[in-house]
Parts: sequence; structure tokens; C-alpha cells
Amino acid sequence: MTEQPLTCHACDVEIEGEPAGRGMLLFLRGDEVLREEPPLCERCALAISMTALDRIFFEEEEG
Ligand SMILES: [Zn+2]
Repeated sequence: MTEQPLTCHACDVEIEGEPAGRGMLLFLRGDEVLREEPPLCERCALAISMTALDRIFFEEEEG
């Protein structure tokens, strides 16, 4: 069994060690729900959480 390098699901960069975060994808396939948790590199995991935070703060500060 060969070790395949993990790559970031978002930017396709190779991940060294453990992925910093994982996204969550849900697929509906007929009656079946498939769940995937693609690995994300540190930058993308951070960017995604920052984007979520940004949205919260933006909505609060607007007006
Ligand atoms: Zn990435």
C-alpha cells in the first residue's frame, strides 16, 4: 500500500501532515445521502472560516 499525498480540495496544494481542516460536502443520490469531508490546507481552512466570520461581522456592522 502506497501512501498517497493529501491534496487540498480547494487549491490542490499538497498537504504535509494532517489537513488543517475539512470541508463538508453532502450529495443526494436517489434515496442515498453521501457525505464527504474533503481535506483543506491551512490557508483554505483559514480562508473559509474567515469568510464565514467576515460575513457575520459585515452583517452586524452594516447600517
Ligand atoms: Zn488549499
